This record gives sequence, C-alpha cells and structure tokens, in this order.
Amino acid sequence: MKINQNVYHSTRSETLTASSAQAVLQGISPDGGLYTLSRFSQDRISCEELLKMDTLPMAAEILSILLPDFSRDEMLSLAEAAYRGKFETPDLTPTVRVGEDHVLELFRGPTSAFKDVALSLLPHLMRASAAKCGVEDEILILTATSGDTGKAALEGFCDVPGTRIIVFYPEDGVSAVQKAQMVTQQGGNVCVCAVKGNFDDAQTGVKRVFTQVGRENLLSGSHVRLSSANSINIGRLAPQVVYYFSAYKAMIADGAVAPGETVDFCVPTGNFGDILAGFIARQMGLPVGRLVCASNANNVLTDFIRTGRYDRRRPFHLTSSPSMDILISSNLERLLYLLSGDAALVKQLMEQLAAEGCYQAPDSLMEKLQEVFWAGCCDDAGTRDAIGQVWNSYHYLCDTHTAVAWNVAQQYKAAVPDHRPLVVLSTASPYKFPEAVLKALGIAQQGGGFEAMEQLRKATGVPIPANLQGLDHKPVLHRDSIESGDMLDYVMKKAVNRS
Ligand SMILES: *Cc1c(COP(=O)(O)O)cnc(C)c1O
Repeated sequence: MKINQNVYHSTRSETLTASSAQAVLQGISPDGGLYTLSRFSQDRISCEELLKMDTLPMAAEILSILLPDFSRDEMLSLAEAAYRGKFETPDLTPTVRVGEDHVLELFRGPTSAFKDVALSLLPHLMRASAAKCGVEDEILILTATSGDTGKAALEGFCDVPGTRIIVFYPEDGVSAVQKAQMVTQQGGNVCVCAVKGNFDDAQTGVKRVFTQVGRENLLSGSHVRLSSANSINIGRLAPQVVYYFSAYKAMIADGAVAPGETVDFCVPTGNFGDILAGFIARQMGLPVGRLVCASNANNVLTDFIRTGRYDRRRPFHLTSSPSMDILISSNLERLLYLLSGDAALVKQLMEQLAAEGCYQAPDSLMEKLQEVFWAGCCDDAGTRDAIGQVWNSYHYLCDTHTAVAWNVAQQYKAAVPDHRPLVVLSTASPYKFPEAVLKALGIAQQGGGFEAMEQLRKATGVPIPANLQGLDHKPVLHRDSIESGDMLDYVMKKAVNRS
C-alpha cells in the first residue's frame, strides 16, 4: 500500500511531516516535537453508526481513521491479535454505575493496569508500520520503568514476532508486587534487568543508550533497531480514543443519556495522554462535554488549566498515586498545538519550558482550553477519604489513582452546576496498590504486599485479578542486575550476541 507522506507533522513544525506508519515507528519527531494531525476531525462515518458496532470493529474503524496508512480490515486483524481473549470482558473496558456517576474500568487487561489498552496494540502496530516503511530490522524496545509501564509493555510485546523488549527497573524503586510481576515474565523475546539506583538512574541510562547508538537507532553490526514504547508515541494514544466511544455507548445503554447528549469525563492525569485521547474523541464528533483533569499533589496541570501559567519549578511529591507523580506532562504539547494551530508558538513555549522551567500560554489559547477543560487536585488524605467513601457508600473498591479522579469529580460537580452525566476513568486495579487501599479502609496491614492483597480480599470479598494471584510462587526467570553505566554493553550482549 502507498504511504501518504503528508498526514502527520511535528507539533513544532508543520513542514516536518511523516505518514502515520512512520510516526508510529519513529515515536518522536526529529525536532523533539510530537507527531500530530492538524485536526483529528473526520467525516468518514457518523457517530451513530460507530456506536452501533461491537468493540473490536469499532476500534478498527476509529484506528484506521486516526492512522490512515492502515485499512479497516488490517486494523481489525491487528486489534484481534492484540485484544481477543486477553481482557477480562469482551468489551475490554466496561463502564459501571457507581452512585449517581459512572466508572470506566480501564484495568481489566493482562496486567490490571490501564496502560494495557495501549501497550497490547502498540507492538502489533509497530511491526505492521515497519513492514509498510520497508524496514526489515528487528525492533528492540528499551524501557525504563517505575513499575506499571514495564510489566504492561512486557506483556504486550511478549512473543510478538519481529520484536524484542528489554525492561530496566530501579533496584530500589518498585514495589514487591511490581517486581514479582516483571521477574516472572515469560516469553522468548523478553528480558528484564535491575539497575542499581533509583528510577532516574534507570531512565537516564536508557536515554544514554539511545544517544550512544546514534540517530538511526541501529545497533552496530546488526539488524536490530532501537525504539521506545513511551506515551508520546501516537501509536499509544490512538488506542485510547476507542474507550471514550465505548463508554459513551454504555451510557446510552444504561439510560444515563439520550443519543447525542453530552457526557463529561473526569480523568486521573499524569503525562496527559489519557485525557488528550478524550479531546481527540471530541474532535472526531463524540458528544464529549467537559474533560476534567484530576491531579494529585503534583498539581502543575491544575494551576496551568486555571491560569495559563505552566511552572514545573516546584517541589516533587511522592504520593500514594505514583503513576501521576509527574511535573512535565509531555502530551500537553499536542493539546497546545491542536487548540492554537500554531507550531511556531508551541516551539517557543516548549523551548522556554526546557530553558526556564515555565511558560505562560496566550489568553486566546486559554479561552479555548477552558471551554472544554476543568481542573482540580487532591492530596493523599483526600485520596484516602475517597476510597473509604466510595467503599462505604457504594461497596465499590477503587485504587488510589481512581480515587483522585473521584474526589476531583465531586469537586467539579459542586463547582459547576451545569455539569453533564459524568464518567470517572479508573486506571488501576485496587490490588495493584493494596497497602494504600487497606490503609484507606482503616485496616492495619499485617505483612508485605502479597499479604496485604490477601487481607484486602478477605475484608472486601472483591476477587483478586487472575494475573496477580499466586505471583509470589511463580518461578523467577530474570535475575540480572547491573550498574547504570553498563547498560549499552548489556543491550549489545542480549540483543546482538544473544548470550
Ligand atoms: C499512566 C497512569 C496514569 C496517567 O495517565 P496519563 O496518560 O499519563 O495521563 C494514571 N493512572 C495510572 C494507574 C497510570 O498507570
């Protein structure tokens, strides 16, 4: 199939273009910008038609609109390979009623984390994109993880032909459960290695390997090409657009809205990928009302959405919702472009952020932004209260990230009387953070992570997801541990020499 060269372009330059397959393969644009369309609007299919479809055909339709190098049929076979039989329910991401609101459960995938939705499909997209671009090299994914992403990426790439993955985790930086999830990973093309130090050491080490290897990302003397699976890749964003449509469909089925009426979504936010997918769904014609951005104590986005001033020069807080402990929300750059249509402005703001740690967005942009986005934040005490309140009032058990969103959703409803029926996005199983959830329920923890899981199950009767059961008894398959300076050697040894 012919590749269309002029579809995606950098958020920082409209002349730096790439086809959708090239954008997926490259991940980030060579000027440091993110690949975007000028607008994600579409007129290929009406919303009504889309909402009549089952989940996988709906996903195929939406994904082939977003990534036009792929036909609907091609996308359907990729989506089947990625999702069929790997999620707890055929609709992948069920929406359930909790009190007067709804919760969109994004954690029913193979590792009980919302990143499964995107990372299950990305390997298949990458492989197919490589084929379209005439790249025959093996793709080697390098990832540094603070916990959740690593396992979801391992599971997604496991045994996908033409790909390999090496995950580096900080020896002192992941929970016992997260470590057990990774070191028991099976698969012929996966490799997991501890790095002495903290997450920053692992992350910096991975970036250094990319720099050492050079621009073409080709490991010397080999047909192995490095790539990354991080959330600025459009191939990770596109699969997330789909669940906004399925949630809307579920809201109609539940009688919460009539077809065509708007729905508000409240999203626990870190790197701004999840909530941006909601904005893309809105541009594609889904009746999305407001997108509520929920942050923990690292509330740089709350301040930005309220005032237009982005300032990362502030204390970094370690919170009970660690996947949202982020001060630079990379995907926000795409929103700035989509609202302003001004690549020169985005380039200037991003350069200012890199040099000075802050920027002020123009009023005209902020007016457009505030028409759609509302923001709030909640600290660890508010998170605990929300878990307790949701459990006591509705017998619904939520994790710490979901609890932040729940808390902010209630703030939003109190502050904005004309709000619409609301969906809270739930991004992790409570069993991924059993210590914090037990504490929120007022139960004293009696052992390590695995004991806490069992204690939580006994106290609530909520079943432990199958993938997290018995992890402490599975054989450990990965025992490597290295200094962060030795990562390139390690990569060469594992990926080229295969020793
Ligand atoms: C990654 C993650 C988030 C944040 O999502 P972004 O797309 O980075 O905004 C929220 N909750 C959990 C559990 C996550 O793993």
